[in-house]
Amino acid sequence: AREAAAARITGPGRTSDGHPVPLLANIGGPQDLPAALENGAEGVGLYRTEFLFLDRADAPGHDEQVAVYRTVLEAFPGGKVIVRTLDAGADKPLAFLPAPAAEPNPALGERGLRMLRRHPLTLEAQLAALAEAQRSTDAQAYVMAPMVTDVEDAEWFTAAAAKAGIEHAGIMVEVPAAALRARHLAGAADFFSIGTNDLTQYTCAADREVGGLSRFQDPWQPGVLELVAATAAAAGQAGRPCGVCGEAAADPVLACVLVGLGVTSLSMGATALPMVRAALARTSLAECREAARTAVDARTAEEAASRARGHLPGLA
Ligand code: PEP
Ligand code: MG
Repeated sequence: AREAAAARITGPGRTSDGHPVPLLANIGGPQDLPAALENGAEGVGLYRTEFLFLDRADAPGHDEQVAVYRTVLEAFPGGKVIVRTLDAGADKPLAFLPAPAAEPNPALGERGLRMLRRHPLTLEAQLAALAEAQRSTDAQAYVMAPMVTDVEDAEWFTAAAAKAGIEHAGIMVEVPAAALRARHLAGAADFFSIGTNDLTQYTCAADREVGGLSRFQDPWQPGVLELVAATAAAAGQAGRPCGVCGEAAADPVLACVLVGLGVTSLSMGATALPMVRAALARTSLAECREAARTAVDARTAEEAASRARGHLPGLA
């Protein structure tokens, strides 16, 4: 019944008192566009482009990349589409690049932007294709890098994007050092998107691929919430948008907390959009902030979640 009621609430994401919170979709490619559109996504907050590169002997060529990116951009005329550059590593090796050295801890190895910095031509080709796709549509292409650790990483990436002719370049905040130094990174990136999946993994030192650690693989961990708060505050002070594109955004209660922490948009698997839209519609910005304040002050993840729920009467 709750899901049916949620499905009746349509339109852009906003709190009960009208504070806008754009609700965006996470996609892995054009095959995910119908679900994004059916569930009322206002754009794409995370396009995981690695699926275009994995499990094939050769890199996708320029024309192939342009065609795929164009299909995604055209689905949201005038809307925002955030394309994440290739996020591969030793755990997701690319057949067309020299094999990376075996790593005992791939999550801590040469993945994401680290790998692209070693293979800059792969990034250049991807950015060139995206720039060309953008020129032939009226969508706004935003590009962001995964696994950014410090200001030098951010500057290197945004310079590469600018050189390719892409105007909006941001970074994922998913490494704790980046969250802690967000005020410095804000000077080197146009926007942030917090990846709570990896941010939780690295903050709690709990490999997301390993079973039996679920207590630490929980974005309600107050240590994770505190890093989200610091990142969003630094972004706010610098006038930069700060979204969340990890699984945390798909939990209606946590979504309200994230908004209360200062997050400016939420991106999630498309099927979660109606429930999150409905939760925001029943909650004021002041309630989100109060729930966020009490959750960050909790001693445990469980306490953070139950305190937040207690402050969100619309979701009871
Ligand atoms: C994240 O880390 O939260 C994220 C959105 O990226 P991925 O799950 O693809 O690592
Ligand atoms: Mg990630």
